[in-house]
Amino acid sequence: MNKGRLIVFSAPSGCGKGTMLEQIMKDEHYSFSVSATTRAPREGEVDGVNYYYLSKEEFQRRVDNGEFLEHAVYCDNCYGTLHSEVDSKLEKGINVVLEIEVQGALQLREKRPDALFIFVAPPSIAELRRRLHKRGTESDEIIEQRVSQAAREIAEAPKYDYIIVNDALEDAVDDFFAVMRGESLKSQSQREFIEEVIKNA
Ligand code: 5GP
Repeated sequence: MNKGRLIVFSAPSGCGKGTMLEQIMKDEHYSFSVSATTRAPREGEVDGVNYYYLSKEEFQRRVDNGEFLEHAVYCDNCYGTLHSEVDSKLEKGINVVLEIEVQGALQLREKRPDALFIFVAPPSIAELRRRLHKRGTESDEIIEQRVSQAAREIAEAPKYDYIIVNDALEDAVDDFFAVMRGESLKSQSQREFIEEVIKNA
């Protein structure tokens, strides 16, 4: 059985990546890695589903224990991907999506050259600000902090393998599956098939 693909998916806060991922996760070949964070849950978020919500002390204990594949600080909170969320699923042939910010993604560029890096961008900064206000989960001050952060993150987008603009949700989801299909057709992904054909010639 082929191993699953590690997919690193970054998008500034408010780019609609949550909704995109919800659509992608309807496909059984994909699984979402639940991250750990020290930020407080937003209304409606559930521990163990959206994130594992940890105290700063518990997060640091796990860092010291080597439990994280990567971790980073974002807007004063810690976020990290646990090894336990990733390795066993990849072995089972499931594609694992890490939804992480840019610093963590760029750490993985070095550590996991096998991973696929996808950046989701908003159509514009003005539209991003509008979406964050509409979501209504953050104060104006936090929104402006997140907008500045987003501009810094978008500047790093060319370091990713693909950039998907999330203007219309369905198109963005289609683009994601188009990328995955293209990747599966790459000659490198088809080595086993070619070996099989040659063996049975
Ligand atoms: P939010 O607080 O809006 O849920 O997430 C803030 C940022 O943290 C987002 O850009 C999100 O992608 C990122 N993030 C979530 N989980 C992780 C993680 O495990 N590692 C890293 N490096 N970033 C994460």
